[in-house]
Amino acid sequence: SYRKGGYHAVRIGDPFAAGRYIAQRKMGWGHFSTVWLAYDTHSSKYVALKIQKSAEQFAEAALHEIEFLLSIADGDPSNSKCVVRLIDHFKHNGPNGQHLCMVLEFLGDSLLRLIKFTRYKGIELNKVREICKCILIGLDYLHRELGIIHSDLKPENILLFSTIDPTKDPVRSALTPILERPEGGALNGGSTMNIIEKKLKRRARRAVANISLRRVSMGGAAEAPKVTKSLDGIDMRCKVVDFGNACWADKTFADEIQTRQYRSPEVILGSGYSFSADMWSFACTAFELATGELMFAPKSGQGFSEDEDHLALMMELLGKIPRKIATGGRSKDYFDRHGDLKRIRRLKLRPLDRYLVDKYKFCESDAREFSEFLCPLLDFSPEKRPTAQQCLQHPWLNLKTSTV
Ligand code: ATP
Ligand code: MG
Ligand code: MG
Repeated sequence: SYRKGGYHAVRIGDPFAAGRYIAQRKMGWGHFSTVWLAYDTHSSKYVALKIQKSAEQFAEAALHEIEFLLSIADGDPSNSKCVVRLIDHFKHNGPNGQHLCMVLEFLGDSLLRLIKFTRYKGIELNKVREICKCILIGLDYLHRELGIIHSDLKPENILLFSTIDPTKDPVRSALTPILERPEGGALNGGSTMNIIEKKLKRRARRAVANISLRRVSMGGAAEAPKVTKSLDGIDMRCKVVDFGNACWADKTFADEIQTRQYRSPEVILGSGYSFSADMWSFACTAFELATGELMFAPKSGQGFSEDEDHLALMMELLGKIPRKIATGGRSKDYFDRHGDLKRIRRLKLRPLDRYLVDKYKFCESDAREFSEFLCPLLDFSPEKRPTAQQCLQHPWLNLKTSTV
């Protein structure tokens, strides 16, 4: 992928935007981009630098993402709505072409890594509540104030706040000689860089190169399974990220949205979708946080498709799909006229609260309360699901389970 039209190869210490940002190390990547930890010499803060692949379709996708990120930043001047903040964007020319770059506020690990960190056992309900509140604040903002459907909500696209203190970080101390000299960034406009500065820069690069990837992951804890039990003291605040698939609710364009396991029934059935599709994904995410496992993990089998398995799993946990829903869109392909699946006949019914007790060893009251929170969000009728705003009022979010 590091060829014409693809990713831009970055070396530690590389300057971007005429020296404003200095690349420090790679933090992640996706289908469209690599994401680097960078130092912003203007604000003296860390930022996440998302460098898009250069081919036209990726540039277009980046412009699309920037459009949403600009509206998001515009409507939230105090940056308190639990959605990632765009700081800057620019173009960068490299050997593989011209890359659109997004500068985002620097965040920490994804909820997916948090779940892995628990060895797929799930996190304590009190912490799940904290995370759910943040996600709902983000969704309420996107839906009600901006009219945006995220369309790909899942643990991977929700990032925790970083717990790293940049002032105590050796990366920063290594760079301090060049970045924080009183006369200001000599790196701005690289051509004026003198020999001493070049030497310092080389030294900083070497120092930075010695710092391993684990530094930004929850203070390093994620790499040390021995401390698995202790998520104590980790502030469970998070933000929604990745607007590469977002859309305006009044002009949805793609038929198929959402990552498979978080996909809502109306999207599977091709009967149109709106904000409530995000609410379905939200419920799947909350379940996964609490149990450590996917709520639905459909597979195709002999004589049935992945879609049909997915619908069967939903019906096993949530009951039969109402007739009205089982007749719209693509439904005729899957359901007979009684509203039963044509090709998967025998369902193992297991209501959500029982499932939480039997499979995940929830106590009766936790299971009942949690499923009372989730079930309305998993209504097969999208218009019956609570909105993010309504969901924020749910008593479950303010319960406190005592932990022994
Ligand atoms: P995808 O294939 O998921 O659409 P993408 O190319 O659009 O990928 P993102 O999902 O935005 O890229 O980012 C890729 C990864 O980079 C994330 O999973 C995360 O690990 C990291 N990352 C993204 N944004 C930030 C941020 N603001 N702070 C810290 N890390 C980030
Ligand atoms: Mg992503
Ligand atoms: Mg993306």
